[in-house]
Amino acid sequence: MMDLKIFDRMESEVRGYVRSFPVIFKQARGSVLIDEDNKEYIDFFSGAGTLNYGHNNPILKSKLIEYLDTDGLVHGLDMATSAKKYFLETVDRVLFKPRKWQYTLQFTGPTGTNAVEAALKLARQVKGRQNIISFTHGFHGVSGGSLAVTANSKFRNAAGVALGNTSFMPFDGYFGPDANTMDYLERMLDDSSSGIDHPAAVIVETVQGEGGVNVATWRWLKDLEKLCRQHDMLLIVDDIQVGCGRTGSFFSFESAGIQPDIITLSKSLSGFGLPMSLVLIKPELDIWKPGAHSGTFRGNNLAFVTAAQALESYWRDGAFANDTRRKERLVRDWLENLVHSYPMAGMSVRGRGLIQGLVTPGDDDIAARIAKKAFEHGVVIETSGANDEVLKVLPALTIEDDLLLRGLEIIERSVGEVLAGKGVSAHVLKFGGQAR
Ligand SMILES: *Cc1c(COP(=O)(O)O)cnc(C)c1O
Repeated sequence: MMDLKIFDRMESEVRGYVRSFPVIFKQARGSVLIDEDNKEYIDFFSGAGTLNYGHNNPILKSKLIEYLDTDGLVHGLDMATSAKKYFLETVDRVLFKPRKWQYTLQFTGPTGTNAVEAALKLARQVKGRQNIISFTHGFHGVSGGSLAVTANSKFRNAAGVALGNTSFMPFDGYFGPDANTMDYLERMLDDSSSGIDHPAAVIVETVQGEGGVNVATWRWLKDLEKLCRQHDMLLIVDDIQVGCGRTGSFFSFESAGIQPDIITLSKSLSGFGLPMSLVLIKPELDIWKPGAHSGTFRGNNLAFVTAAQALESYWRDGAFANDTRRKERLVRDWLENLVHSYPMAGMSVRGRGLIQGLVTPGDDDIAARIAKKAFEHGVVIETSGANDEVLKVLPALTIEDDLLLRGLEIIERSVGEVLAGKGVSAHVLKFGGQAR
């Protein structure tokens, strides 16, 4: 048994994931994690979407080692460096030019919440208003400004101060499939006596990663953009978790055909798990005064090296995106079959690309128990949603098919074991309701 005592003794109670996965990991390659007993785990969590290209991706790693070997700058504040120059050129060539996009890049401090803070600040400056529209179950980070637009009470209650200047509106599907929540938002904005202060901006995730894998339809996103234009509000898409290819295109909103005013990127941006965040700003909105927003770690040049290489290696053509969509179908089919195998269990599937959620009814901690079983059987997987009712399948986009299938088999087995404990068995009503 691995001795975790020093973590219990020295680390704050605030620690989280070590409680779900109580082993000591010593190595990781691709989609496999290895603990100190040499037990291997298939990674279906990917650092909450930070490792879209797997652990220690060999292409990115060799670039990194090469860069360090030549004494390239590691830390550069926001000074011009060769690594940053190459990153800018690569973003322009690989991301912007083919899309005919123009965005100005703001490098912020390295965590996602740093990018969100900058985006909110800028939007408020541009419009000269304080209020921001955010959505139920939205997650945008845990520092003051980001926390104010984050819905989850567990995080909000930890703030210790009032969190304000935000109006929460129902996300797509909040009242079930038959109610269009955009009608509600529109009515609130149209009515000068609705009690909603004219917002500077709307901040939205196209798929709510932490909030339970809730998927906004393309139609809803399009209508949201239209509403933003009508009411002179900026549209901020927080693409920190589901951007960088997670949903099958580099940006998660591309199929919706919308043009956000501001985009935040982080998690898988460096491609290697190195901290790095970015705010993309429509050029005409870039009213920042020089140095008005700073941060010591805005120049993680190691991250620039791997970020540029990730774009070069995976995004110069559509092959990688196509392969992600192929894997999406595989995962989706598998999970849907699983749901149909247990018609009495009341489960369903939702997601987009390689973020797919197995939604449980939410009683008895079923999702958490499935995740725990899966971990025993060698899969690292997390839950999400307000009551942790959604098992979140989040493998690396680069995962080999055989590992993906093995992981899914383990999920199926774990679901079976947990449901059997509740007296629910498989296939009871399969094939037209006939018991077998
Ligand atoms: C993770 C996440 C953040 C916050 O990023 P940190 O690096 O944890 O600060 C913000 N928005 C979304 C959508 C996220 O998933």
